[in-house]
Amino acid sequence: MSNGYFGKILWVNLSDSSFNEESVSEDSYHKYFGGFGLAAKYIYENMPKNTDPLGPDAILGFFPGLLCGTVAPLTGRYMVAGKSPLTGTWGDSNCGGFFGPEIKKCGYDGILIKGIADEPKFITIIGDEKKIENASDLWGLDCVETEEKLGEKFSGARIASIGQSGEKLSLISGIVNDKGRIAARSGLGAVMGSKKLKAIVLKGNKSLEIADKANLLNMVKKYNEGINTATVGSIQLWRDLGTPWMNDVVAKTGDAPIKNWGGTSAEDFPMENLAKITGMEIDKYKDRKYGCFGCPVQCGAILEIPELKIKETHRPEYETCASFGHLLLNDDLISIFKLNDLCNRAGIDTISAGATIAFAIECFENGIIGLDDTDGLELKWGSSEACIELLKKMINREGIGDVLADGSKKASERIGKDSEKYAMHSMGQELPMHSPKYYKSIGMTYVFDPTPGRHTSGTLDMMVGGPLMKPNGLFPGVVLPRKFKRASEDRNEALKLVSCLWQATSCLGLCQFAYFFQQYPLTEILKSITGWDMTMDEIINSGTRIQTLRQAFTLREGIDIVNNTIPERTRGVNYKDDYIGYCEKIGWNPENGYPLRETLESLDLNFVIKDLY
Ligand code: SF4
Repeated sequence: MSNGYFGKILWVNLSDSSFNEESVSEDSYHKYFGGFGLAAKYIYENMPKNTDPLGPDAILGFFPGLLCGTVAPLTGRYMVAGKSPLTGTWGDSNCGGFFGPEIKKCGYDGILIKGIADEPKFITIIGDEKKIENASDLWGLDCVETEEKLGEKFSGARIASIGQSGEKLSLISGIVNDKGRIAARSGLGAVMGSKKLKAIVLKGNKSLEIADKANLLNMVKKYNEGINTATVGSIQLWRDLGTPWMNDVVAKTGDAPIKNWGGTSAEDFPMENLAKITGMEIDKYKDRKYGCFGCPVQCGAILEIPELKIKETHRPEYETCASFGHLLLNDDLISIFKLNDLCNRAGIDTISAGATIAFAIECFENGIIGLDDTDGLELKWGSSEACIELLKKMINREGIGDVLADGSKKASERIGKDSEKYAMHSMGQELPMHSPKYYKSIGMTYVFDPTPGRHTSGTLDMMVGGPLMKPNGLFPGVVLPRKFKRASEDRNEALKLVSCLWQATSCLGLCQFAYFFQQYPLTEILKSITGWDMTMDEIINSGTRIQTLRQAFTLREGIDIVNNTIPERTRGVNYKDDYIGYCEKIGWNPENGYPLRETLESLDLNFVIKDLY
């Protein structure tokens, strides 16, 4: 075993109930780290192009970041990866909580699942014993019920499961752990559902070797003591309020989309509405703080909602509040709690669910669908009760819910009548709650990222509020080129830098919120855990390799990524210019997005060349 990782992954084949361990070369960790980077290597190499993402040959990966499971601050993240059934592209999704570290405790740096079970099953790894067990009595339960039931039998285990949405192959479903943390994007819950895999139950007994424990503890102490999570008065925004601290702020700046991207905060959702759903209002319901494994910030919270007779539910994140609030002109906070709870239980992506409901409302308001189509639901802006009923129908695929259960693009194809103009998606994935009119570079990410429609894929303008812009940089030696704000060589370089840095830090397991706090001693922490002497340039180069492999996967599927677009009302300026500059810097052909042959060679991605050339 090496320091910081175990040197092996586990393959599970549900078709023949087999387990196989595979050794991972030392070189692969340097090149891909962990998370979706290492997952991309294995999935690219083992899953032929044009594989049906819901078929037996599809591979679904669960990979903790490389540093996950150690005490390094903000590294409790893991990633689910595979081919997205929603977009047909590379798909990955990032999640916190305690499931990722437990994969490591089981002695693996990743779990890859293929095949299809003949009946509902769940996988257990308890100590050294691995089993595939019958899940018939769990099928139909929501994720909280599933965790509770499995928790009775496997006390202390960490569980990831799908709810009804994944079981019913909703293309906007995700995978849930910790009773409400969800790897939500890319529709990977449907992949798990197609395999008839209800849950993965882990309780490990292994510990990691650390190269220099004393130095690691010293650095962790220093980082945690100095942590600065933005303070206003006596409130620490991230620590006390979590991401909802921005619920009102980003509406006022113009970042948050309003009324299915067709309105403005000033006209449609002004302060009198926003005041009802602020982070401070939500905080009144806080029962206790919650956070990912080993995190000094603990930006999550468990709420108690007496109005709903809910004793415990996760605090909705900003993305959720905006999807069910700003986007629907809904200022009924209790309904946002309810919608969030329903999604977390059923395992459905709150961004896609909210955006699809917004699509349905706009269709209804414009006479494209009527009461006969909606099973009598009057879908009006701000109609919170109707939205709750509609979401339940989506979860159960009942009536209009079946039309909407696969997201707004599929729904518009089913409804027809020019309804596509109300579907705010990129290649089928609903757009997150940040506007390309506000963060210019996010337009490029939404349209052209190998997994389109994502805000968590390293977008320049979103990152510049934090230490990245400070003279010492976010990571020692990493500073943005000076004139990155205007179209220029500097901007192109900065777009590439942030994108590749992001891929690297994600695959190391670092939470994206680390970008908003103070300088992170990444090379030193990496060295004290793994013993590696890796420079920031080498780390960024691995990020470039990971991004290029994600891109190659999407291109190999025959996806015409450069001709993708997003609806006009969501567009900012410059996203195509940004992309051309980005491609030139990363070494891809801007005309078709193909990585250049010499780029692939220089990144040691020679195995990709035969597929693209
Ligand atoms: S900052 Fe929040 S999301 Fe990030 S690791 Fe900590 S608790 Fe998890």
